[in-house]
Amino acid sequence: MLELSNVRAGYGAINVLWDVSLAMQPGRLTAIVGQNGAGKTTLLRAIMGLLPLKQGEITLHGKRLDGTPTWDMADRGLAMVPEGRMVFRDMSVAENLIVGAFNKAHRPHVAARLEAAYEMFPRLRERRKQLAGSLSGGEAQMLAMARGLMSDPKILIVDEPSLGLAPLLVNELFGILARLKAEGRTIILVEQNTERALAIADHVYLLQGGKVALSEAAANVTLARLHELYFKH
Ligand code: ATP
Repeated sequence: MLELSNVRAGYGAINVLWDVSLAMQPGRLTAIVGQNGAGKTTLLRAIMGLLPLKQGEITLHGKRLDGTPTWDMADRGLAMVPEGRMVFRDMSVAENLIVGAFNKAHRPHVAARLEAAYEMFPRLRERRKQLAGSLSGGEAQMLAMARGLMSDPKILIVDEPSLGLAPLLVNELFGILARLKAEGRTIILVEQNTERALAIADHVYLLQGGKVALSEAAANVTLARLHELYFKH
């Protein structure tokens, strides 16, 4: 279990997260929703060690995770698929994927993981020699996701995968998320599309002004109730 207890974090003197406590269960998909600026990305950055905590702690299976350098997160079983198209534009699709398994422990598995990535994302196989900078938005998002999977993470953290994508591609991406969940991976999904998030999640957290405004099993939340809270502020 990945657990955040009373986490406070921000940028310099500015505080963004206020005493945030969350628990992410293994093999489940936890969705974190909230309006622009609610602190969702900041929360993910805090988990990945990209932002020091001002207060509180993060634990993974009872062991302290905060304080772990970001480059060691792959060893702890975590990978993050960043928002948008943060792929290496001047590198080919294949090179981008290989970078995702840079860690020494993962190197012997590169060929098998590449094959698994291409099996899951056939379009990337077709485009493996193409520069990532020339991919469409949807393809780049697939590449970001495939790259995150190259370290075979137990916990995959996905930031806004549907942002700016056409509905068909969003369907495809959510299909992949469902498949990853069925494989037993733990998924933390930040998503502004509340309807999609609710449909796929096991548990939903609503962040508002850097605080947890709702923590509920997805089965117990209707979209109407979520929207009522979502648009309250
Ligand atoms: P969005 O969906 O728009 O990305 P979000 O919920 O992910 O929103 P964050 O990106 O976590 O929100 O931002 C939360 C707050 O922190 C915002 O007020 C933002 O301006 C501020 N913030 C984000 N990054 C920085 C930074 N590097 N320095 C200072 N303030 C920042």
